Amino acid sequence: MRTKQDYIQGLSKMKRNLYYDGRLIDRTDELQTDCLNTIGLTYDEAAKPENRDLCTAISHLTGERINRFNHIHQNKEDLHRKQDMTRMLCRKVGGCIQRCMGIDAANAIYNVSYEADKVNPGATCYHENFKKWLTRFQTEDLVGCCAQTDVKGDRMLRPADQPNPGAYVRIKERLKDGIVVEGCKLHISEASVADEILVLPTRALRGEDKDYAVAFAVPGDWDGLKQVVTVHNLRPRNHFKRGFVPGATDSYLIFDHCFIPWERVFLAGEHLHGGILALLFALFHRHSYSGCKPAIGDIILGTAALAAEVNNIHKESHVREKLAEIIMTAELGYAAGYTASDLGKPEVYIPGMGFVPFGPGSYIPHSIYCNVGRCLSGEAVWREAEILCDIAGGVVATFPHENDFKNPETAEALLKYTKRNPKMSVEDQAQFWRFLGDALCSATGGIVNVGNYHGGGSPIMEQIAITTQYDIESRKKLVKHLAGMSGGDPDVFGKNNTK
Ligand SMILES: Cc1cc2nc3c(=O)[nH]c(=O)nc-3n(C[C@H](O)[C@H](O)[C@H](O)COP(=O)(O)OP(=O)(O)OC[C@H]3O[C@@H](n4cnc5c(N)ncnc54)[C@H](O)[C@@H]3O)c2cc1C
Repeated sequence: MRTKQDYIQGLSKMKRNLYYDGRLIDRTDELQTDCLNTIGLTYDEAAKPENRDLCTAISHLTGERINRFNHIHQNKEDLHRKQDMTRMLCRKVGGCIQRCMGIDAANAIYNVSYEADKVNPGATCYHENFKKWLTRFQTEDLVGCCAQTDVKGDRMLRPADQPNPGAYVRIKERLKDGIVVEGCKLHISEASVADEILVLPTRALRGEDKDYAVAFAVPGDWDGLKQVVTVHNLRPRNHFKRGFVPGATDSYLIFDHCFIPWERVFLAGEHLHGGILALLFALFHRHSYSGCKPAIGDIILGTAALAAEVNNIHKESHVREKLAEIIMTAELGYAAGYTASDLGKPEVYIPGMGFVPFGPGSYIPHSIYCNVGRCLSGEAVWREAEILCDIAGGVVATFPHENDFKNPETAEALLKYTKRNPKMSVEDQAQFWRFLGDALCSATGGIVNVGNYHGGGSPIMEQIAITTQYDIESRKKLVKHLAGMSGGDPDVFGKNNTK
């Protein structure tokens, strides 16, 4: 397994294809340091003996010990550990740990490439291609990101009906030795610091959309790929340092006549499988949210409780109510993920068919619980921001800059007027308002909230998944029985009557 330094050194050798604010930058540009440190923690923590079971796993392909972020889930315990590892690491960086996209995309492609080969007996070897790619990904301990979201053009038009055929990434040409793709994936987190980019479809596809049913993996600096990057760094601090400085980046990935050799192609034209792949990645990713959102809940809870303490209002009943609300959302999100892990099976839900065996035997979390957990916690983002705003009061928005606390002409007075709770040092109170300002009032804080709301799919996507997969009919039959209507059935849930 690699160290953080190996990871950064690997990135430093990549070609320059990152465009930032009108100029080309290196992957190790200072701008990306905070992001590299955030992902770097996944290497540091995996190397600690006490984290061995949580942060590493044994590869089912090589029998070697690998970073859990590169693992294919072999049983329920793997699903539980991914959730717990995610919560642990996100707590440490105070937000998104950023390496989950790779594991979620790898698990989705692993299953779908296997099923797609079954409909093309002997004609395609997507799954073997993927296993070869995966073996290298695991052995070299690479960082993967997932490029799913397309620019999508006119939202009311399906891919093949768009006036711009590149509104969704598509196969433009099929050659003997590979395919040529074009299009643009956007909002792709950590692509600018990833070794490999896993590309997969974003939505259900029709037969006429078959050229959009494409999945492949390329290094982040591949020929024919440009990345236009936004970097989300907090305002630098000179005097009052943070305990940990998180960073994140997102890229527009522009594929311009980009050649992908067959050995890196894992789906090319099977439209039904393209749709399933889109859903399956989203499912794995929503399961990751059941680890990260509870961690973010932990941080929001600590922040709200401290804001109340700084204001010396922590014993007030309205504060207790708000803290309880944050805890309920975080822990219900965690419980949903835990249940999704525990009910995990090598099966997927196909509308009209129910749960059917899927893939070569790796474990897939239960769809309903992944979706309810992610929807509940994703929608709570703005309510949680509202609670922080409420308890903090206005100071978080107008707190003076660092140098004013250093300038002899203002420092003493500012400290005097910062003091609220007599039992807490005023320096700590000032440091706390700086921290809360980062979360609530900075550009980065705003971006994080949008990401927490839409990342993994907007709440409407989870609501569609929940209502199309949940057995609403059986609930109707139950109520018909209770109401004394015709067609009722008290035993609609079977003898055990548990699910
Ligand atoms: C910070 C951040 C990081 C992200 N990271 C990644 C990443 O690493 N990889 C990745 O692949 N994606 C990533 N995403 C993308 C994320 O998954 C999408 O933002 C999300 O799926 C919503 O898609 P959209 O942004 O295109 O919004 P849209 O889908 O355009 O949604 C906007 C509104 O239009 C509505 N709408 C859209 N289409 C229809 C329709 N046909 N009919 C009716 N209503 C419609 C939606 O319900 C919504 O209300 C990230 C997003 C953010 C903000």
